Amino acid sequence: MVKKDRGSLALSTLAVHGTAPVRETDAPIVSPLHQSVNYVQEVGTADGMRYPRYGNGPNAEIVQKRLAAIEGAEGALVLSSGMGATACALLALLRPGDHLLASSWLYGGTRTLLTEEFATLGIEVSLVDPMESRGWRKRMRKQTRAIFLESPVNPSCRVVDLRPISYLTHDSGLALVVDSTFASPVNLRPIELGADVVIHSATKYLNGHHDVLSGVVCGTASYIEEVRQKMMIWGQAPDPFACWMLDRGLKTLDVRVQRQNANAMAIARWCEARKDVRRVHYPGLTDHPDHEVARTMLDGFGGMLGIEISAGAKGTEKFLRKLKLWRHAPSLGGVDSLVSEPRYSSHVHLTPDERARLGVPDGFLRLSVGIEAAEDLIADLEQALK
Ligand SMILES: *Cc1c(COP(=O)(O)O)cnc(C)c1O
Repeated sequence: MVKKDRGSLALSTLAVHGTAPVRETDAPIVSPLHQSVNYVQEVGTADGMRYPRYGNGPNAEIVQKRLAAIEGAEGALVLSSGMGATACALLALLRPGDHLLASSWLYGGTRTLLTEEFATLGIEVSLVDPMESRGWRKRMRKQTRAIFLESPVNPSCRVVDLRPISYLTHDSGLALVVDSTFASPVNLRPIELGADVVIHSATKYLNGHHDVLSGVVCGTASYIEEVRQKMMIWGQAPDPFACWMLDRGLKTLDVRVQRQNANAMAIARWCEARKDVRRVHYPGLTDHPDHEVARTMLDGFGGMLGIEISAGAKGTEKFLRKLKLWRHAPSLGGVDSLVSEPRYSSHVHLTPDERARLGVPDGFLRLSVGIEAAEDLIADLEQALK
């Protein structure tokens, strides 16, 4: 895999220290939690006024600097959730009358935001099959402002190649907005490949411990300022404690994701060899349709995989009830291994046909691989398959 230039410090170092560790005698090694929503203000000026809803509380500022460094962006903003991040990121780019091209392979909540909420604001959205040749170009209009996509895709684990799309957006003066939640910055930094905006549900890999709800937007300093204005007015700022927890979670991002990558690969290979697993969806396997894109674009194949067991959609319920370590829960990206059925979670509002077209047929199980020992996770799958 390609080793990308990340400036002087490696990602794992940035995740612990940021760009400049505090070195004064008696300074705490861990950034203190400032659980205060009010700060004494200078008399006679509004300059420098702090208020957490403005995104300028001390804990927000610390974690924002660190996230910008990790993604290789000028600026970053932490918001109250991944959905809050997506909504504010796009509200800062689009006005009534504008047109957005979005991948049809999207997280369920994002899809509803784009197709239902944005319609009421006069923002038109066209969904594009990201694998259709020249699909983006064919649907571009005079009013098109941006392309929005996820890669790798939740939950199908398909990998959309950002490189040709970023040539197109640069050529046409559009913004390329990437929801990079599934990859985490350990496996992919979209800005290095020409993306303009990167969004994360920090609830997932960035925090990584199933105990914080938050989102991140990364981009140029001037754009981040516009997102901040939206966040203030739409009330999508995070609490100081969430920022402090995210700061703590980030320190172990690199080791967690490396372990999750390795565990997922081992599990995918094991599943591939089983007769009672009909299909395995993991971009690290050589027969995955996007393996070549994944191999050249990602630094790791990720901790998410999809399986379809041979017992079919009906057999999945029995399988899920027999699992002991893997727990049935809808989120992903944390240290505990989780399994979910998109038909009963992120993609519940679609019909079975619509889901099948997105590569998520009934019976599809999404595995979010944690940091436990791979052999224990495999043994648990094996006993539940019996
Ligand atoms: C979970 C998720 C979101 C939404 O994030 P929340 O933190 O739950 O609001 C957005 N995009 C993707 C790809 C996700 O997995």
